[in-house]
Amino acid sequence: MLHHVRNLPFAVPFRFVILRELELRHFRNLGIQELRFPPEGVAVIGDNAQGKTNLLEAIYYLESFRSFRGAGDGELAAFPEDAFHLKGIVDGDGPATVSAGFDRRRRKKKVSVDGSETRRISAALGRLGAVVFSPSDVELVTGGPQVRRRFLDIVLSLDGNGYVESLSRYGRTLAQRNAALRANAGAQAVRAWDEELVSHGARVTHLRHEWISTWSGAFAAYCAAISGCDPVALAYRPDLGRGRVGPEDRRAEFGADEDEVGERFRERLRESWETDVRRGATTVGPHRDELLFTITSQGRPLAARTYGSGGQRRTAALALRLTEAAAIRRRRRAEPILLLDDAFAELDEGRSMRVMAMLREEGAGQVILTAPKESDARLRGPSLERWRIREGVVEA
Ligand code: ATP
Ligand code: MG
Repeated sequence: MLHHVRNLPFAVPFRFVILRELELRHFRNLGIQELRFPPEGVAVIGDNAQGKTNLLEAIYYLESFRSFRGAGDGELAAFPEDAFHLKGIVDGDGPATVSAGFDRRRRKKKVSVDGSETRRISAALGRLGAVVFSPSDVELVTGGPQVRRRFLDIVLSLDGNGYVESLSRYGRTLAQRNAALRANAGAQAVRAWDEELVSHGARVTHLRHEWISTWSGAFAAYCAAISGCDPVALAYRPDLGRGRVGPEDRRAEFGADEDEVGERFRERLRESWETDVRRGATTVGPHRDELLFTITSQGRPLAARTYGSGGQRRTAALALRLTEAAAIRRRRRAEPILLLDDAFAELDEGRSMRVMAMLREEGAGQVILTAPKESDARLRGPSLERWRIREGVVEA
């Protein structure tokens, strides 16, 4: 099974990007510390509630400038403090410094690369090339559609092809149009936003379609390799493509042609006018997209969210993270930094061995893993240096 994945057409020449140093100041319970990471990575061992996830959250903050747990910036500063600050030294083609901070009172986020503050945070995204694996990833499958849209928004934002800009302009336009609807501002005031909404929305839909059609094959191969069976399929269901008659493969094509998406968006806005007015909100568009995980049972496709077994859902979530890692590998031509937060806690031994084997097969990037017990770390990172963490303090 493993060679099946290795032979997928995204093998690329590797270089290494590693996190060398991390300076922490008042990020959650981590206090003030400076850590130097070994190039191959480290296993951080500590009891519950000591700060293991906080540490990985801090590292990933320097990748995405937000909490991977979905926490607001205001929650991240240590309780009595007003601000936190993080600085990472990343070694790729020579060292680079990424730093970020947030001041709760001034509600201001600052991001800088190599000492100079970036005007747009989007320009600094994805410098580490890291992926987080966490037990809560299963929510990607079992949670609501907004969880999956958030996943897509993050991976696509890190892709650096204008997605963030389109998405944020779409979001702003949508908010304006909704405000006009709520205020009963009249058809003209509401529809004044439509063309802008259509153009950014079509772009967002198109880029989402592209990402999924590029990666759904890899996703399926990872699923098969982890589970040995249980095929799970990944498909994009753009809201704008809804209700289009035709065979499944035709529907799957929707999104390939950006102009067609735009046309369809205009049409749907016209159709939904009365509903929008009644509800005081725009009821069509990519803010209602869905990403579907489908299992096949006795020849029938079923939603993994409702019908999948616990193991199938966890497998699908892991495969999605492996796909994310593969996308980084291809985009950056470098091994991603793997942040494994007690990652395979609920996976049976066979599956978790296969996942680790797969990660090792694909390259030997830096691995920073956490585990409550030494015995869990042994399975996942036998040769990694061990650190302890207690009440937020790391003992290297
Ligand atoms: P588990 O093994 O249960 O997952 P963990 O080691 O991953 O535990 P974390 O989630 O990293 O634990 O840390 C939890 C601790 O961090 C809690 O004690 C919590 O009170 C503390 N904490 C969270 N946010 C803040 C904050 N803003 N300021 C200070 N402490 C915080
Ligand atoms: Mg944790």
